[in-house]
Amino acid sequence: MQRYIPPLEGRRGKLRLDFNENTLGPSPKVVAALRRITGEDIGTYPEYSRIYSKLASSLGIGEEELCITNASDDAIKVVLESYLDKGDEIIVPAPTFAMFEVYASIIGAIVRTILYNDNLSFPAEQVLQAITEKTKAIVIVNPNNPTGTAVERAVIIEILEKAKDRLVLVDEAYSQFTGESVKDLIGRYENLVVVQTFSKIYGLSGLRLGYVISSRRNIESIRKVNSPYSVNTAAVIAGLAALDDQEYLQSYVAEVLASRAFLADELKKLGIAALSGKANFVLAQFGQRCKEIDERLREKGILVRDRSSDPLLKGYIRISAGTLSQAKQFIRSLKEVL
Ligand SMILES: *Cc1c(COP(=O)(O)O)cnc(C)c1O
Repeated sequence: MQRYIPPLEGRRGKLRLDFNENTLGPSPKVVAALRRITGEDIGTYPEYSRIYSKLASSLGIGEEELCITNASDDAIKVVLESYLDKGDEIIVPAPTFAMFEVYASIIGAIVRTILYNDNLSFPAEQVLQAITEKTKAIVIVNPNNPTGTAVERAVIIEILEKAKDRLVLVDEAYSQFTGESVKDLIGRYENLVVVQTFSKIYGLSGLRLGYVISSRRNIESIRKVNSPYSVNTAAVIAGLAALDDQEYLQSYVAEVLASRAFLADELKKLGIAALSGKANFVLAQFGQRCKEIDERLREKGILVRDRSSDPLLKGYIRISAGTLSQAKQFIRSLKEVL
């Protein structure tokens, strides 16, 4: 295996448009709640009943249909460990989030990569055709990172139908930006597992809180594999406070959507092809200049993610859409660099 080493050090104080985080951090209520943590809170093993009940009711599901995890990369790990054995095949449309392949490899599962279409649309036909007796699981990231592609609900249902006896893992890390989720289908499809996270829109990347939604029966299996204390007390306290401030989330989503449209427009005005996608980032086409632009922006304190080494994303840099004023700052600096 190759070790996955994210370029994550020394990012504080910079304009972080490289990891699709909430660029404002969490609701101020989260920070206030964390300041109230006591020594007893820290010295005691975590207790989960409040977060289970609050999160389940906010999702409109039962507590037995929910399993909290150490953010969604741990959710993906626990789900794959629960269902895959060595030699099982897992279909992963790519390019996508790196951790599916990492955790599948640890298990010794065989990753069957299906490339997104050249126009970055979801390769629905190819995925459907790739489902054979050997297939044990199928991954759908909706909307996808780094392509920004949304998958139609009807397509997900078609895959769920065709893959009746296999696991269909839907990663909804960015679902708040489309307002769409398939979590309501868990009662209808026993093979559906949905993963969501507090890392992106909620602004809790640094505390690690995510969760799995599935049928009661699946969750029972998944909880057997899940480490009993993988979510820490600070993450629980932050998650509870974050759920209390839905207004903050709504206003951040609105801000990101405006900022994403602004970025796409301004890039086009500069003669740079841009794909705005359905998540909280845009892809901008800089051709041969990606590395240079990335470095020059970095010198100006702006971080973006050069995705140009991916065969489908040749010449593209991914830019997270933060607030409108951050997008303006980015465009000003980009003009200087160009
Ligand atoms: C960022 C991201 C996640 C979130 O990972 P966490 O481990 O929850 O921080 C999950 N899936 C995708 C596709 C992502 O881009």
